[in-house]
Amino acid sequence: MQCEYCDKQLAGEESEIPFEDNSGNIMCNDCYFEKKCAVCPICEEYFEMADCADGYYFVITKGAIESADVEYEGRPMIPGIYKATEWPMFFGNVLTGFEGFYDGTIELVKQADFNGEFFDEICRDCLKKEIENAKEMP
Ligand SMILES: [Zn+2]
Ligand SMILES: [Zn+2]
Repeated sequence: MQCEYCDKQLAGEESEIPFEDNSGNIMCNDCYFEKKCAVCPICEEYFEMADCADGYYFVITKGAIESADVEYEGRPMIPGIYKATEWPMFFGNVLTGFEGFYDGTIELVKQADFNGEFFDEICRDCLKKEIENAKEMP
């Protein structure tokens, strides 16, 4: 058995239950983490990234909004947790990176702010925790 991405031979644990991409191609652990996973900005654990709007949740912090002057639908963006409803939902360019969101592509799930300047996808565990905390608030 061989990784379809880097041609590495899978051995031992890796070959028992190998990771696969969406087309069923075998991936070694290294390629899986490199191509399909990101580090969650909240808990710093690896998680599998969403590859479509369904299931894509992200955090944008006040710092990130202020440093890039991000607006959404003509108004300054609210820091918090968002869910994507359309894909792709953001634009930018290779020089400056992220610039903003297309109108009507995202929904605010919860207003919140986190330390740091980031706009990143978050893992499902943190999402669940954040949403449950929101419900407990009076
Ligand atoms: Zn590989
Ligand atoms: Zn997390």
